[in-house]
Amino acid sequence: MSHHSPATTQTATQSSDCPPPADEEPGSIPAEEPPHSLTQIANPVPSIHQPHTTRPALWAAVPDEQWQDWRWQLGHRLSSVDELAQVIHLTTEEIAGLTADDKFRVDITPYFASLIDPDDPHCPIRRQVIPLGRELEAFEGMQADSLAEDAHSPVPGLVHRYPDRVLMLITTQCASYCRYCTRSRIVGNPHQTFNRSHFEQQLAYLRGATQVRDVLLSGGDPLTVAPKTLETILSSLRAIEHIEIIRIGTRVPVFLPQRVTDEFCAMLRRYHPLWLNVHINHPKEITPELSAALAKLADSGVPLGNQSVLLAGINDSIHIQRELAHKLVRNRVRPYYLYQCDLVKGAGHFRTTVAKGIEIIEGLRGHTSGYAVPTYVVDAPGGGGKIPVMPQYLISQAPGRVVLRNYEGYITTYDEPLDYDAGMIEHLDRQAPRRAEPGQSGVHGLLAGERVAIKPEGFDSVHQRKGAAP
Ligand code: SF4
Repeated sequence: MSHHSPATTQTATQSSDCPPPADEEPGSIPAEEPPHSLTQIANPVPSIHQPHTTRPALWAAVPDEQWQDWRWQLGHRLSSVDELAQVIHLTTEEIAGLTADDKFRVDITPYFASLIDPDDPHCPIRRQVIPLGRELEAFEGMQADSLAEDAHSPVPGLVHRYPDRVLMLITTQCASYCRYCTRSRIVGNPHQTFNRSHFEQQLAYLRGATQVRDVLLSGGDPLTVAPKTLETILSSLRAIEHIEIIRIGTRVPVFLPQRVTDEFCAMLRRYHPLWLNVHINHPKEITPELSAALAKLADSGVPLGNQSVLLAGINDSIHIQRELAHKLVRNRVRPYYLYQCDLVKGAGHFRTTVAKGIEIIEGLRGHTSGYAVPTYVVDAPGGGGKIPVMPQYLISQAPGRVVLRNYEGYITTYDEPLDYDAGMIEHLDRQAPRRAEPGQSGVHGLLAGERVAIKPEGFDSVHQRKGAAP
């Protein structure tokens, strides 16, 4: 295994092939907002008096005020072999990945790079952001748009798959880039991002879509969008009466906790009810800096959840998942989803079996607080949405009795009421609001008696053989 040696230089410079800072990228931080001057830093977290991550020698001389300025972090991201070799010992396979022609964008904030163990190729931080040569290997089942989002977009960037909620993609840019990214087909290209005219189209569609009560802002990472633009989008959404909640999916607190300033949190407060999901995959990502950012968000009244991806060699371990769940809950973040890795280009070597996910849930449910157990989901290839998968706890049933088992293997029975009257609720049920879900009542529609079967496409014609030989 050949290694590049980390440089011993104490200066931090931006090399010529380093991508431009986000304020030069379309749809990202626009030029009309100048970088913070040193005195404008709203809330430098953490100060040298608070616990914080130790910086590698490369950045030791960078003044704290700069290190804690998110614009400085974005402007000094690392992407090339030469830049990364200054902070970690790159392996042959990492060099092959970093120099591959057709690779998904690489960009790593100095803060996130400072969490990497320079000598350990298995470091979970490192494996998420530094490509390996094998990243571009195709695999069975690989799909470009594995969730079929493009097919469900009425206007650019808006995915309207369910009646009452939409996914609103407002940028293709991120603070750093995850090697397994589900949307790598659109993410990362600074020349193909969303702009004001797209936002206007998205908002116009939403004004007319009165059944939509929940908008999820995503991308790319919505927190890399220029602060003023993000606030304009939030206030425009809030002005639409039928939109009840706004959700934000972001990995910025993990890659760039410096972005979560007091000013930013004060802005969020103006647009409640607003929920936010972060994306933390490994307990090592929960640093004092991230904890401080999460505390600010929670103190601003933003309910926090975590979505993580099950990744081979990074977090496919019950012990790592339990430690992650406990650290999340301590930081007021509810573990929300644990995703099976999608069938996306670049993610082949990160994939686990579904059995591993079920085993992890088996090791969590009952072994820790229910609050700390995420829902394990497979995002259905082809666009079927999230499908929860879990161990089987219902062992058997007969009229009047079910047999259940708990996490310890204790098997018990539950006697069901013999006189249960499911019609008793009818009076109240009639008064509860109804929502039209044309064609999407699904399996519940079968239970409700709307129809007797769900047939695959072509089912009837296949069975009309009209006496023809098979
Ligand atoms: S932060 Fe999200 S959108 Fe950006 S690269 Fe990572 S997974 Fe993809």
